[in-house]
Amino acid sequence: MNSRRDFLRQVGGSALTLSVATSTLPESAYALTADGKQLGVALVGLGSYADRVATAMKDCKLAKLIGGVTGTPSKIDTWSTKFGLDKANFYSYQNFEQLKGNPDIDAVYITLPNSMHHEYVIRAAKMGKHVICEKPMSVTVKEAEEMIAACKKANVKLYIGYRLHFEPYTRELIRLRKSGELGKILHVNTYDGFKIGDPKQWRLKKALAGGGALMDVGIYCINGARYATGEEPIWVSAEETKTDPIKFKEVDETITWQMGFPSGAIASCVTTYNFNNLERLYVIGEKGYVELSPAFGYGPIKGRTNRGEMSWDTTKMHQTWQMDGLADCILNGKPDPNMTGEEGLKDMKVIEAIYKSIAAGGKKVSLV
Ligand code: NAD
Repeated sequence: MNSRRDFLRQVGGSALTLSVATSTLPESAYALTADGKQLGVALVGLGSYADRVATAMKDCKLAKLIGGVTGTPSKIDTWSTKFGLDKANFYSYQNFEQLKGNPDIDAVYITLPNSMHHEYVIRAAKMGKHVICEKPMSVTVKEAEEMIAACKKANVKLYIGYRLHFEPYTRELIRLRKSGELGKILHVNTYDGFKIGDPKQWRLKKALAGGGALMDVGIYCINGARYATGEEPIWVSAEETKTDPIKFKEVDETITWQMGFPSGAIASCVTTYNFNNLERLYVIGEKGYVELSPAFGYGPIKGRTNRGEMSWDTTKMHQTWQMDGLADCILNGKPDPNMTGEEGLKDMKVIEAIYKSIAAGGKKVSLV
């Protein structure tokens, strides 16, 4: 089911009686301003997520993949063939700064392991290039603050890869909350996790990952609860469970936590590296609810409200929406989505408070 029209076709006559929750397109990142200029992008760290972004960028109108930065020379051949890129636009981590002189590259997109984001965002900012950085933006609050300061000083944009802010179901959830259709938000129930494989991967090493499931996927619950309520949490309390202390010697395995918001709304959250089928954002207001499930993965996202099933076009990859949307902000001055460095910093502050609460035996930690 790809579009509202397909949806209506599939349900046939019953569409007449079914109260479909959504009837207009979510307010739009979709009306792109195209004046011929494209945002040239280089990906830094050509791993699995970079490959996904590059694939999605084939369908972009305003953003254009130009090159990459890699420590593996053989990737220059495979990437230039696969994505039709000029080999002259590839750099190594050592000669990264040579990218400064490449006029075709306006922005770099950091898709390296988490603990490397800080160094490469700052190096990119010093070259005067705009920066898109994957989540989590850093592994500490202090680093996040330094990254924001470096980009401000260099007068370049810093965006964090929170791709869902351009995703239609998520945008509709936010619209429903902002419009008041859900009434006062009372509760958010959200979880995100998966069973992680290879015990040798960087995601299980603290020096590269910074943390475990919370930093990797629990961050979607934090960000989700923030866009579901439109508020910043004022306290958290958290507990960790570890069933495999060998595999998860260095990083967290499963964390459950609560977040309290100024209005009195509470978010109840779970993240894990230990089991699958955990991906939901359920938002309950006085007048209605929205449930997205799956809510955070590559999709298709699915959802329903108290008025019925939601149905949006899910044919485009999230990263296509994201890269065109961010290019529109940079090139045409469109208002920034909630994906700036400052937004990433807010999530990092919650993450640190959650770890603090765990260390304090589950005590409430204030965020104000
Ligand atoms: P990956 O392991 O597939 O890729 C990491 C890349 O970094 C590889 O090319 C690797 O060679 C390179 N690298 C350079 N130095 C390294 C080192 N010292 N150790 C390990 N790798 C090194 O990982 P990934 O899944 O592509 O994740 C990269 C980043 O993207 C992470 O920050 C992750 O959180 C983020 N991510 C975001 C999403 C999303 O939906 N927004 C999805 C997946 C990953």
